[in-house]
Amino acid sequence: MKISELQKSLKNIISGDVFWEKEILNYYSVDASSYQIIPKIVIIPKNEKDVVNVIKIAKKYKISVTARGAGTGLVGNSLNSGIILDLKKFDLIKIKNNHVKVGSGTIKGKLDETLKKRGKFFPPNPSIGPYCSIGGMIGNNASGSRSLKYGSVIDNIEKITFVDGNGKKITLPKNKKIGIKILKSSKKTECKKFPKVTKNSSGYRLDLIKSIKDTHKIIVGSEGTLGIVLSAEFRIKPIPKKRVLFVIEYQSENDAAQNCAQILTTSPAAVEFVDRTIMKNINHKFNGKTSCLLFVEYDSELKNIQSRVKKVITGNIVKTIKDDSEIQRWWKFRDSSLYYSLKSIKNKILHVIEDATVPVEHLPELFSIINKINQKFHTKSIAYGHAGNGNIHIRLILDENKLKNIKKIADEYFDKVIKIGGTITGEHGDGLARSEYVRKQYGPANYRIFKELKNQFDPENILNPGKIVSHKSTIIKNLSRV
Ligand SMILES: Cc1cc2nc3c(=O)[nH]c(=O)nc-3n(C[C@H](O)[C@H](O)[C@H](O)COP(=O)(O)OP(=O)(O)OC[C@H]3O[C@@H](n4cnc5c(N)ncnc54)[C@H](O)[C@@H]3O)c2cc1C
Repeated sequence: MKISELQKSLKNIISGDVFWEKEILNYYSVDASSYQIIPKIVIIPKNEKDVVNVIKIAKKYKISVTARGAGTGLVGNSLNSGIILDLKKFDLIKIKNNHVKVGSGTIKGKLDETLKKRGKFFPPNPSIGPYCSIGGMIGNNASGSRSLKYGSVIDNIEKITFVDGNGKKITLPKNKKIGIKILKSSKKTECKKFPKVTKNSSGYRLDLIKSIKDTHKIIVGSEGTLGIVLSAEFRIKPIPKKRVLFVIEYQSENDAAQNCAQILTTSPAAVEFVDRTIMKNINHKFNGKTSCLLFVEYDSELKNIQSRVKKVITGNIVKTIKDDSEIQRWWKFRDSSLYYSLKSIKNKILHVIEDATVPVEHLPELFSIINKINQKFHTKSIAYGHAGNGNIHIRLILDENKLKNIKKIADEYFDKVIKIGGTITGEHGDGLARSEYVRKQYGPANYRIFKELKNQFDPENILNPGKIVSHKSTIIKNLSRV
């Protein structure tokens, strides 16, 4: 491929911006993960025609195209070596009753503000808050604390329009011809190999495609490997009138983990976990024996809620918060967990094995797996996350000279997570850190179907290659900022 010829073709055809200056390529070479890959070209398309033309030119020159939202992904999902397509100009927001049509480049904070004026909200709420994009949320099947009650992106989406690897614009579930093919793939899958968890961002979610009406869900969590999303339609909800947040302290991680399944019987909107490292950053004097906290929130049926909570918890309530601004202040502590983790270490590698999700009754086993890994590999870990969904973020601290242990630890951890019925990723996607484990997660028969799907939407493998279906090991390669 002659890069100068490609640059010329793109400049002539694309009405948006085309860049290959070193500074811009460097900017797009990183996201919120520890990985770095320098792309060759960055394009900010102006309209749909630009997206179609980029795909057609990329096919001709055999160069990859990777969609990029806000670049807040934690496992290098939006990094690649070919063309990076930044969809920031696709920022439409159109509300109709309990639905909203959103352009894929729309920043979530903008959507939240617009919906708030109508008394509505878009349920999935990643801890990154307003800074991610809708395309990236679709790409990763993002979720957040309140996904316990309201689900992930995949549970709230109704329609999706995208351009596939052939340069064809498709709307699902409207396009029945494509829909029937997806449905056929879904019927062939070995269902028992799909983990029975409440959140899952690994592989292609064929398990949720039961009829032609569900076929758009195949794009959710596909990390830009099946198509470039232009826009999507979502269901929106009325903002709850009142919330109550309980902060509950426990003397051990195991106690908190054991208690989660019981707490779920009271129908909370959120059950979130933070360990002692995170707790130290919270401006409150906890009991000296407290080892971790659960944040448990309710936003409906609030009558007698305190007494109902007291009946099921084994920890102590340290705070009952009803005031909205105080609730928000406490959620900020939880949402800053990644920042507190990074702040707490010096001269060590902090790597991520990092958002596995298990059936909530297996949560105590997940903590015990981590403890055994820490003993075996002489690591320490920081833990926080969406405990109600069985989804815990583990930040592993290891010495710089033990880099090769990352793969050994991940091999062992994911093996055990899969054995207890979990998924290797509940919300951040497979990216560079987990794509090599997708085959193990779903088994060879399902993996073959994933490859067929990929081939159907992207026969030349130009859309974000190396993610989800990949025979290469990328968990350590390209790690740059450890
Ligand atoms: C501090 C912090 C906290 C976080 N907390 C959470 C959390 O609680 N829950 C959670 O789910 N995530 C969380 N994340 C991860 C991340 O913020 C989310 O997954 C987010 O949705 C990614 O959005 P983005 O716009 O940054 O996507 P990017 O990182 O830009 O892209 C993510 C993926 O989507 C694809 N993509 C982007 N746009 C398109 C498009 N138009 N068409 C097709 N594919 C596209 C990309 O190719 C890539 O594969 C957190 C991240 C940070 C840094």
